[in-house]
Amino acid sequence: MVLTKYEVLKKYFGYDSFRDGQDEVIDNIVSGRDVLCVMPTGAGKSLCYQIPAIMLSGVTIVVSPLISLMKDQVQSLSNIGVKAAYVNSSLSENVIEKVYARIKGNLYKIIYVAPERLFSNAFINTIREIDISLVVVDEAHCISKWGHDFRPNYLNIAEFVSKLKSRPVVSAFTATATRQVRQDIVTLLQLNDPYVCISSFDRKNLFLDVRHPDNKNDELLEVLKNHTNESGIIYCITRKTVDTVCDLLNKRGYSATKYHAGLDDEERTKNQEDFIYDKKLIIVATNAFGMGINKSNVSFVIHYNMPKDIESYYQEAGRAGRDGNRAECILLYGEEDIFTNKYMIEHSVDDKDNKAIEYKLLEKMIGYCITEKCLRAYILNYFDEEAKEKCGNCSNCLQTNYEICDMTEQAGIIVDCLKGMSKKYGKTMLVNILKGSKDKRILSEHLYELHDYGKLHSLNRNEIERLIDKLIVLGIIVKRGVEYPVLVIGRGLEDDERIEIRVPKRSVGSIRKKDSLKPVESELFSVLKKLRYELSVQEGIPAYLIFSNATLKDMCLKMPTTKEEFMVVDGVGEYKSAKYADRFISEIKKYIDGSNI
Ligand code: ADP
Ligand code: MG
Repeated sequence: MVLTKYEVLKKYFGYDSFRDGQDEVIDNIVSGRDVLCVMPTGAGKSLCYQIPAIMLSGVTIVVSPLISLMKDQVQSLSNIGVKAAYVNSSLSENVIEKVYARIKGNLYKIIYVAPERLFSNAFINTIREIDISLVVVDEAHCISKWGHDFRPNYLNIAEFVSKLKSRPVVSAFTATATRQVRQDIVTLLQLNDPYVCISSFDRKNLFLDVRHPDNKNDELLEVLKNHTNESGIIYCITRKTVDTVCDLLNKRGYSATKYHAGLDDEERTKNQEDFIYDKKLIIVATNAFGMGINKSNVSFVIHYNMPKDIESYYQEAGRAGRDGNRAECILLYGEEDIFTNKYMIEHSVDDKDNKAIEYKLLEKMIGYCITEKCLRAYILNYFDEEAKEKCGNCSNCLQTNYEICDMTEQAGIIVDCLKGMSKKYGKTMLVNILKGSKDKRILSEHLYELHDYGKLHSLNRNEIERLIDKLIVLGIIVKRGVEYPVLVIGRGLEDDERIEIRVPKRSVGSIRKKDSLKPVESELFSVLKKLRYELSVQEGIPAYLIFSNATLKDMCLKMPTTKEEFMVVDGVGEYKSAKYADRFISEIKKYIDGSNI
């Protein structure tokens, strides 16, 4: 009997409905049409090709650049009762031989391969013996030099496809594709009149937050108080910062590990696995961490530093909340991040044109950190997507104890003041002058004679500082020197330029004490999480491959006590129900008895 896509969705994956775009992609593949599918991280691309793979009569080959991800996907498929295998350089020749034999015996429905394997005669000969219905190219942007992760081996995929006995359906998936990259994918993969699905980059479950803390460590510890017992990633810009932040967290009793290119392979792999298998809750990492991380229960991604561009930011932040649960993406911005990024551009990019591009991208990133408007709209607009003016789910939209003030006039005074000074001073002195302070140096150097002395006395020091910061970020004034930096005029104010800053409402006083939006984790949820962890240790697979947090939460809501009821939980399919229902039901019953519900 042939199952419909809805039946497959329920039976294997345990879900009741498709997400936006999924069913059209599935329909097209099943009907025999090539597909190009661009969906953001966590949108559910895997399901878009795994369901057709289950429905089609032959075998599906998935080309993927990420070795760690292949293992994860194969474990995940095996755990819902789909026969899958992978072939890549992590396996010994001996094991590969055995896998080939099983492929020939038609024992697998889905086979994951690394692109270099497509050259291997042994592989091609094996594959030519079986019936291939579908070739999937995951992370398809790797085929383009315009993508951020070009893999030359991807260029051979079309040739590989042409060597097969009959041409299968070819479908390409990626999370990041500009127009240029999309064009490359279609041409270089020789897609045949493909159905193109480009879905919104909006990830509604992600709460976006930018903070400008005076002390990042204090702010970080404050943020983490809202995330006890949750898994999260903290990105830092340098290895050294990773080391310090990780030490700090461990000293404060957090379960944290770290990842960066300075660690040897063995330690890196171990730390990564500790995180994936929930042995450590937090990983502190440079941007080297994350490609191929499929962990679905990441509840927060904190950027301790501002990254170099919006693409990187959204990709990294997007590793939160893949299970669809509410997750937080918090960026701790500091002015020094601008200098670190500029330093990196100066020292890593040779070509002058490329440098200019990098500076442009950095500027957009800074724009995200200092915008007073909706953060989600900013990102979506960046990716050429229209957005509502306010999303209601970012720190700017939810800002109630701040108000936006037009400071154009005051900005003009600051610029004027700098112009009028023959000697250059640092920020503190400039604030003193504008505030009209009677500081010793002001008196001894006769600075009270300046035309703009005391002109901003009605603002408090903090507000003047914020305004100066903003002018620096906008390049209107510039900081010069490293040890004792002084302020000088930069590009100056444009004629009709408006300067706005966000200041705390005076009546409200102290800066952000945001209500925790997260309900307290229920007792039953902890019990089920513990059981899930035990099972994951027993089976040697990551906990999230047993059930996602979203599934456990639905279980807490529905509290099933029979197998029929268990099947109704979101994310429980037939295979997992047969495998796990008894253990989970028994814990739920114990909980119900114990709490006299
Ligand atoms: P992507 O490859 O697009 O980054 P994944 O395929 O890894 O995303 O899917 C992310 C998560 O979303 C997975 O945990 C998956 O089980 C879940 N998911 C996908 N489709 C659905 C759906 N229709 N209903 C509920 N959860 C889904
Ligand atoms: Mg994916």
